[in-house]
Amino acid sequence: EKDLEGQVVTVLGLGVSGRAAVKLALARGAHVVAIDKNKHIPALQQDPLFSSEANTRLILELGLFNEEHLHEAHKIVVSPGISLEQYGLENLMQLGYPIVSELDFASEKLPKGVRIIAVTGTNGKSTVTSFTGQILEHAGIPCFTGGNLGVPLSDAALTCMECGNGGAPFQASVVEVSSYQMEIHAKTFRPSVAVVLNLTPDHLERHKTLERYGLCKCRLFTHMDPSQLAVIPAGDSLLQGLAAQSGGAGTRAWLGDLPGVQLNAAGSAAHLHVPTTSLEAHLDLTTLKATGVHNAHNAGTASLLALGVDFGLDEGAIQSALPTLKCLPHRMQQVCRDDNDVVWINDSKATNVDATYTGLKGLTKQQCVVLLGGLAKVLDEKGNIGFDNLVHVLNLHRAVVTFGASGEQIKKDLEANGLAIPCKQSKGLVEAVRVARGIAQPGDAVVLSPGCASFDEFLNFELRGQVFSGLARSIS
Ligand code: ADP
Repeated sequence: EKDLEGQVVTVLGLGVSGRAAVKLALARGAHVVAIDKNKHIPALQQDPLFSSEANTRLILELGLFNEEHLHEAHKIVVSPGISLEQYGLENLMQLGYPIVSELDFASEKLPKGVRIIAVTGTNGKSTVTSFTGQILEHAGIPCFTGGNLGVPLSDAALTCMECGNGGAPFQASVVEVSSYQMEIHAKTFRPSVAVVLNLTPDHLERHKTLERYGLCKCRLFTHMDPSQLAVIPAGDSLLQGLAAQSGGAGTRAWLGDLPGVQLNAAGSAAHLHVPTTSLEAHLDLTTLKATGVHNAHNAGTASLLALGVDFGLDEGAIQSALPTLKCLPHRMQQVCRDDNDVVWINDSKATNVDATYTGLKGLTKQQCVVLLGGLAKVLDEKGNIGFDNLVHVLNLHRAVVTFGASGEQIKKDLEANGLAIPCKQSKGLVEAVRVARGIAQPGDAVVLSPGCASFDEFLNFELRGQVFSGLARSIS
């Protein structure tokens, strides 16, 4: 079990995944050097495992680091937060240094029998990952659900090690994968079923071009064989090209066509065909509690993935799971209905324009006051932030309130591109909520679907969503 005894493992980056990798490396018997450029990482100071005195096999280097630790390492584990430009990694990789991603490091300790279902894409990853895990669990298949979402894969691997004898407390591992986690080519992380949900501009400050960003995602397919399922959207020629470039031999299934999953226009029914097993299913999606047509698509996709792993699930097993699917918080989450009969909806996780667009398209039942703002993502060299793409869907609603660091730019962008509903600008989220409350009519909804990162005002999108929800509840 202690397969790394006597070896040095250097872990770069001590966020959630990096810290999990350190724990796994220690459990595998390694001498560990844990490096982060930040001097103060509160979560680290609170964790007794990271006190060097308590652990003679751990060296912590915060702030400055000794380059020697890269040269002496038997393995260098890179956290998703570290780009290849840091620590000279690009160069070290070319020189053949033993550099692995956290996903690979974890996979080395996942028992062979555990089937991996990997989910990536620009938007919808967490929802599809969570839905897939829920469907499998409902069918009686114990699952680990995590990765980029929630618990890192290294923690799952550690749990398996603690089981001993190559055992595992779960049969499937549904893993949300971000593009950052796939910048380093995977060797041991080999999904049985993988999907790239969609590809739109995001995170380009790190990946530079849409092609490079998409290629990271399509690396999920690289090691697949024809018995395995590689799923991409129908009609997306860029993704098709990139999937082909990935070199994998997985059998293709489509989102939006057969073989694969096809929904009717209303999103009330789905037809599934799994090419690897020839399984077919017709699903009634009207029993879903998750709102919005995009969630009908997410549920259809999750159903395809769950059928694709070939655990013997059939139409009946999937159909009975659908009404039980629960949405994650901060994704089109209905917070409350206030005294004025206004519904408050928290979609703080919509951190790019495309997510906001999809979320708003699903809101057809009521007039909305839409809160847009935060820190917008620049999409090209000209400084465009892409909010013009929202104008026609916004024009179906009551009003827009912009806020935060990019509030002014968003308002200008919308108004210069034909916004025909009122648009107010406010300083921060608290003021935006107050303004929205003044505009909303009985029967309306106020929706926070900001289309921006949260970092100008908040630590993360969760906190932004919590503040919004707290304010909304204090009104009702
Ligand atoms: P991710 O994990 O990829 O960020 P989430 O499942 O957390 O995705 O959803 C983030 C936001 O993206 C949601 O709040 C919603 O507005 C939007 N969204 C959800 N599903 C989809 C989809 N299938 N396609 C496009 N946008 C989506």
